[in-house]
Amino acid sequence: MSKTDQEWQAILSPEQFRVLRQLGTEAPFTGKYTDTPASEKGVYECVGCGSPLYKANTKFQSSCGWPAFFDAIPGALKTIEDRSFGMTRTEMRCAKCDGHLGHIFKGEGYNTPTDERHCVNSVCLKFNPE
Ligand SMILES: [Zn+2]
Repeated sequence: MSKTDQEWQAILSPEQFRVLRQLGTEAPFTGKYTDTPASEKGVYECVGCGSPLYKANTKFQSSCGWPAFFDAIPGALKTIEDRSFGMTRTEMRCAKCDGHLGHIFKGEGYNTPTDERHCVNSVCLKFNPE
């Protein structure tokens, strides 16, 4: 799936465009899904293309200011090494539309099955409660 910036601007809000297409980051503790609880039902989808990214039961409370998940739906993401800001981080993007979602951090000691924190911008997600 490839669209021009103009086509993306037609379907995304300015903030969604800034984050998904221009590698932006939303301000911490402002996102709609920052503090929503894990649940047994539901899937968080990519707001750009509707691709399912995270099951709601992989969400956890990280207190980092953004929604956090410990594992993605297999094949939903692609990852890229990000060396910006003098750090080496793992950037994650939607595998289907190439939208920037956030970063993956490993080995921080969270009590989750993977010890990974997928730090996702709320603005990139749409919760589907089914
Ligand atoms: Zn997508």
